[in-house]
Amino acid sequence: MLRLNNIKIREDLSDYEVLKLSIKKYKIDESDITKWFISKKSIDARKKDDVHYNYSIDLNVKNEKKYPRIDKVKEVTFPNIKSIKKTLSKPVVIVGAGPAGLFCALTLVESGISPIIIEQGETVENRKDTVDKFLKEGKLRPSSNVQFGEGGAGTFSDGKLTTGINSPFCKKVLQDFVKFGAPKEILYISKPHIGTDNLINIIKNIREYLISKGCIFYFNSKAIDFRIADNKIQSVIIENTSSKTFEIETSNLILAIGHSSRDTFEKLYNSGFQMEKKNFSIGVRIEHLQKWINNSQYGNITKLKLPPAEYKLAYHSPTLNRSCYTFCMCPGGVVIASSSNSKEIVTNGMSNYLRNGTNSNSALLVNVVPEDFNNPSPLAGIYFQKDLEEKAFILGGSNYFAPIQRVEDFLNNKKSTFIGKVQPTYKPGTTLSNLNSILPTFVSKTLAEGIKYFGTKIQGFDNPDSILTGLETRSSSPVRILRNNTLQSNIHGVYPCGEGARLCRTVLCQQQ
Ligand SMILES: Cc1cc2nc3c(=O)[nH]c(=O)nc-3n(C[C@H](O)[C@H](O)[C@H](O)COP(=O)(O)OP(=O)(O)OC[C@H]3O[C@@H](n4cnc5c(N)ncnc54)[C@H](O)[C@@H]3O)c2cc1C
Repeated sequence: MLRLNNIKIREDLSDYEVLKLSIKKYKIDESDITKWFISKKSIDARKKDDVHYNYSIDLNVKNEKKYPRIDKVKEVTFPNIKSIKKTLSKPVVIVGAGPAGLFCALTLVESGISPIIIEQGETVENRKDTVDKFLKEGKLRPSSNVQFGEGGAGTFSDGKLTTGINSPFCKKVLQDFVKFGAPKEILYISKPHIGTDNLINIIKNIREYLISKGCIFYFNSKAIDFRIADNKIQSVIIENTSSKTFEIETSNLILAIGHSSRDTFEKLYNSGFQMEKKNFSIGVRIEHLQKWINNSQYGNITKLKLPPAEYKLAYHSPTLNRSCYTFCMCPGGVVIASSSNSKEIVTNGMSNYLRNGTNSNSALLVNVVPEDFNNPSPLAGIYFQKDLEEKAFILGGSNYFAPIQRVEDFLNNKKSTFIGKVQPTYKPGTTLSNLNSILPTFVSKTLAEGIKYFGTKIQGFDNPDSILTGLETRSSSPVRILRNNTLQSNIHGVYPCGEGARLCRTVLCQQQ
């Protein structure tokens, strides 16, 4: 396979038009091509007077020797997933139908095993109705919400598919998403995203496929206890929403419980699972007008129809020895109420595929270390989060409205009294507040330094009318369930994975 690299395109063209220009540049006969596809597309906006696309195209030709000077690439092949020959006497059980649980089920099915999947929340279709109701009426359902339910925590998200890891399975995950309905462009654009509107259908399609392969789902069903004997898992006890309990025997239990199921973490800890506290981050969501970000990133000369612009920023405070960074930026998105416990406020961000909202938003976070919790328990980080989320609930008016503040007022440590150019998008509602009054001082001070610094990088970032919404506390897990090099916890037969293990990888049937 040949790769045509570094193709700079300065107008909006169809893929085929890009191909035509590329083969002209590389002097390739179109009649020699048997297969082609775009393998990379990114935007280069470093020079505002020369904003352009950068493409790579991969193609198969009848006679590669005819083009000796063109780069050759190997087609990506994935490591084989071992098929499991041994018949298991008890079913494999997965707790949690988030990305880790669902991709674990897909991998097990590929290797010949159909697991049982237990999920405390609803199916994604019913969950959507429940979330819509919460956003409208402020009535939270603790078992099914933006964090919990089929699809897991990122279902109501921007569906960003970027990762810092370099694994051949990253490509496979993208291909699986396309197989279940994601837009094909996620295979080649530099920062792929799916959008909440697409994700909901994709997750439904994954479930239907898994059921067709013999998997069994129990929704509205929570794993409430774990029977252990001789340090091995024996069974999992489940309670459904009608308070009926039942037990499923298993020797292979996959814990894909995410990071927000606090009572399950407590149960596991009290049942003898080894855990440790870990670093995480807390802060706020910041909202700007998307047009400010577009203008800062792309300038106003280009005529290209570019997607809403993004940014990723980091700052280290030498005096406070803390870092402030932006995370999970949602261009054209909204700030979403992500509480999973009663009387707590948690923010996050989401966008639909088109990212066509007026505002952009991003988490603005400061790192937190276990020494900040002043408590030896492995669950101390959870208590620290919870305390802040409860304070945000009270500051917002104790009705699931989020506390908000204009950036200028935050920097001057005074309660906001009006909303300026940026209208907050958080639902069910917002309350003008002073977020400094509930944030730890080191967080407030680092955020203030970070905002001013980021204003020097992105024009408008520190605009007085930019809106801060509090609090963002769940960007990653404050606790890790330990596992050994066979991916098992100290309790034999239990495999923590995804956010709950703070190692976002699924278990790939290593045991057999
Ligand atoms: C609003 C929002 C937007 C996000 N946006 C992005 C993004 O754009 N890109 C990105 O990469 N990441 C994003 N994230 C983070 C991402 O969602 C998580 O990293 C990811 O969901 C973790 O996957 P997981 O399967 O490990 O856990 P989760 O997705 O948290 O899934 C765990 C599941 O387990 C269930 N569960 C827990 N305990 C039990 C129990 N005892 N019994 C039964 N079921 C149980 C839960 O109900 C939940 O459905 C976002 C998160 C949120 C909240």
